[in-house]
Amino acid sequence: MRKKTKLIHGGITGDELTGAVNVPIYQVSTYKQEAVGKHKGFEYSRTGNPTRHALEELIKDIEGGTRGFAFGSGMAAITSVFMLFNAGDHVIMTDDVYGGTYRVVSKVLNRFNIETTLVDTSSIEEIKKALKPNTKAVYVESPTNPLLKVTDLKATAELTKEHDLLFIVDNTFSTPYWQTPIEYGADIVLHSATKYIGGHSDVVAGLVVVNSEQLGEDLHFIQNSVGGILGPQDSYLLIRGIKTLGVRMEEIESNTKRVVEFLQQHPKVTKIYYPGLKDHPGYAVHIAQATGFGGMLSFDVGSAEKADQVLAKTKYFTLAESLGAVESLISVPAKMTHASIPKERREELGITDGLIRISVGLEDAEDLIEDLQEALQ
Ligand SMILES: *Cc1c(COP(=O)(O)O)cnc(C)c1O
Repeated sequence: MRKKTKLIHGGITGDELTGAVNVPIYQVSTYKQEAVGKHKGFEYSRTGNPTRHALEELIKDIEGGTRGFAFGSGMAAITSVFMLFNAGDHVIMTDDVYGGTYRVVSKVLNRFNIETTLVDTSSIEEIKKALKPNTKAVYVESPTNPLLKVTDLKATAELTKEHDLLFIVDNTFSTPYWQTPIEYGADIVLHSATKYIGGHSDVVAGLVVVNSEQLGEDLHFIQNSVGGILGPQDSYLLIRGIKTLGVRMEEIESNTKRVVEFLQQHPKVTKIYYPGLKDHPGYAVHIAQATGFGGMLSFDVGSAEKADQVLAKTKYFTLAESLGAVESLISVPAKMTHASIPKERREELGITDGLIRISVGLEDAEDLIEDLQEALQ
């Protein structure tokens, strides 16, 4: 099955009982048992719910893993994955990781003695230098947020296998439509499904796919114990979103290319970060492991004042956190998504006050370009 077909025919399709072509929303918490312990596979909806199960099967198929899990948010998914570790364990992570991920590891999980080191994972040498006797995993985002840095998934997987570490990939930006990290040796792939997978700014959710039966059992134990599950209504909305993921990503990418071309020739734009540009440092690695570049890009206009002026003027680019929706979104990472990262650290990373991040949506590219043209003036 090819990708666009799998988005529609993967997992569990329809309802055997009625012939309905969609999986119904099983708005239910508990299930009748014929005798004690004798049931049809569902006992209680924290443990398992048929609509959530259909979504979990679908994302498992799309990412090419052994088992899928749906959580109430991307952060619930990430935190649950970290519950696989014990106090005293060490995890190496991408340095410009999503702000909320940085916050949970540096302000919450540190209290449980789970230690993290942030390095530029686009360099295998940097990952090697950070290895310690208690290192248990390497956690990467590729491309990253908001600088679109690219990590070599295959090379990282070779390193993690050699040292018996888990390799975890946050695949939110690429989506499984463009990139399936398990194919390159990742053990766990996760998503903020709030973004492209849901795609319509109407659901907050997280998804995880693992590549082994053991990890599947371990993570199900955590999902059921900690309880950060996704509800049936939101599970249904994600299944619905996934059906159009392919057409959305194709159209978003074609719009993004047009926007990038426009920004490239604009005198007020000092720098553009987009993995689809041949002079982007991660370009060669990215095209070796992904079939598309997505709709995220950042550009620098030089100062916080100029960035504020642009943000105040756009009419189709909505000023909002988040990304990956049908509507184009615009933000200033330093003041919004990455505000929880201390200023000195942000500057070290290149997340300047004049850096603007956009998530290109599905509007007409001409309107998006005109909008940016006027705002930049
Ligand atoms: C948004 C986001 C998250 C967090 O997901 P929520 O659904 O907001 O909890 C994690 N990683 C990345 C890359 C994100 O963009």
